[in-house]
Amino acid sequence: MLRDVIIIGSGPAGLTAALYTARANLRPLVIEGIEAGGQLMLTTLVENFPGHRDGIMGPDLMTEMRAQAEKFGADIVQGNVTSVDVCSQPFTVTTADVTYQTKTLIIATGASARLLGLASERTLMGHGVSTCATCDGYFFRGHEIAVVGGGDSAMEEAVFLTKFANKVTIVHRREALRASKIMQDKARANSKIAWRLNTEIDEIRDTGKNEVSSIVLRDVATGVRDEIPVTGVFVAIGHTPNTALFRGQLEMDANGYLVTHDGSKTSVPGVFASGDVQDHIYRQAITAAGSGCMAAIDAEHYLEGVPEHLQTTVAADAKR
Ligand code: NAP
Repeated sequence: MLRDVIIIGSGPAGLTAALYTARANLRPLVIEGIEAGGQLMLTTLVENFPGHRDGIMGPDLMTEMRAQAEKFGADIVQGNVTSVDVCSQPFTVTTADVTYQTKTLIIATGASARLLGLASERTLMGHGVSTCATCDGYFFRGHEIAVVGGGDSAMEEAVFLTKFANKVTIVHRREALRASKIMQDKARANSKIAWRLNTEIDEIRDTGKNEVSSIVLRDVATGVRDEIPVTGVFVAIGHTPNTALFRGQLEMDANGYLVTHDGSKTSVPGVFASGDVQDHIYRQAITAAGSGCMAAIDAEHYLEGVPEHLQTTVAADAKR
């Protein structure tokens, strides 16, 4: 069957695009992907999503978004997309079991935070281990914590976290930092930041109550190990945008993020991108949701054949 809209990804961007296209009677098909629900499934309390004054658990927020999209007619299927062809209309989306065809495609495949690969990192994710300082920093008021990484993200997160924590130890595997000079200087000037360079984390220890209690560090030159008490570990070693499916078909930046213009438009007309797959700056659930809404409206305009120069007027009329 030829679909009007297929959405790949089911985080805040994908499910918001589903809600809006469903309410526009486009009966979107959402292919959830293997990390169904996206990065919020790895968090606990979300306190910065407007409308939830006491916060909401990340997985509960995604359950609500999914149910809301389904209520208005979105079809949501499990499945991992194995290939996509956007070189000719209609576009083709293939999963292990089914091949779909669609007039428009909304890509909301997100970006995956890179992890160290320690077993304890996964089990303690959302219980002291985090990949988002903006989301979780508030929970560490008065605590001693660690940030892993030597890039701009690690510097930015460490400086931000000193607003809450008493001490932030940056753990980086080399002597030289990858971060820009200005970000390094900001971090170095901050008296709450301690440094462990040439050092890797061997282990994240747990109190036995599913809470982080300490990290075991190893000096990469000498192999000497020591343990420091921390209640939080922020892993800031970069993100990988989930764009492998689109390589060679859609324009990407040097880091593999999809390039969008005029809202959510990609380099191929009829293909739109929203959320972290095209945003390496804001990376918030609310900004992802907002860009999912934009992609839905852009897809609707495309299907209606609204000429580009009239689209702003149509969007303004639709709000009235
Ligand atoms: P990044 O520049 O790729 O840095 C990642 C850091 O994590 C590197 O220091 C790297 O170590 C370390 N790392 C990677 N894998 C590791 C592992 N398995 N174990 C331990 N350490 C590991 O990533 P980013 O900091 O997220 O920045 C991504 C892009 O966004 C950059 O272009 C950055 O400039 C930009 N950004 C800009 C701002 C800003 O300007 N405000 C803020 C954030 C990000 P090595 O150095 O040894 O490879």
